[in-house]
Amino acid sequence: MTPDKTPRVAPRDAARRSYPVQRTEEQWRDLLTPAEYQVLRQGGTEAPHVGRYTETSQPGTYACRACGVELFSSDTKFASHCGWPSFFRPADGAVEYVEDNSLFMRRTEVRCASCGSHLGHVFEGEGYPTPTDQRYCINSICLTLDTDDREDPPS
Ligand SMILES: [Zn+2]
Repeated sequence: MTPDKTPRVAPRDAARRSYPVQRTEEQWRDLLTPAEYQVLRQGGTEAPHVGRYTETSQPGTYACRACGVELFSSDTKFASHCGWPSFFRPADGAVEYVEDNSLFMRRTEVRCASCGSHLGHVFEGEGYPTPTDQRYCINSICLTLDTDDREDPPS
C-alpha cells in the first residue's frame, strides 16, 4: 500500500558523484580504523548484535563516523531486535540512496550524503510500529553518538 517514494541512484551514478567531503583512499585509511574502513569505505557489514549502539537508548545525536555530519536523532531510533541500530527516519538530506542488487537481493543502500560512506540499508513495509514503516538498518561502527548534555548550566 505504501508507495516507495525513496529516490535512488544507480551505483555508477553514485561513483561519479562528488561529495562535499572529499578524501583520497589513503586519507580515509589514515583516518579510520581498519574495521571502520572496511564498512564505511568498502561497503562491508558489521556482525549482528556486536555493535556498541545496537541496544542503546541514550538520548543524543548520531553522527557519521567518517565525516562527523549529523545523520540520525535518538528520537527516531527504535528497538527492532534485528541486531543493528535501527532508525525510522534520517536527518533531512543527511543520507542518499543507492540501488544494491548484490547478494541476489534488491535492497536500498544508505550512504552519508556528505562523504559518500556506506552506512547500511533501508527496508520498508515490515510492519514495525513506527511513523514511517521504514527501518534504517545502520552499522553501529559507522556512527558516533553525541549524547545530549541534559545537565543544567552552572549558576
Ligand atoms: Zn559522512
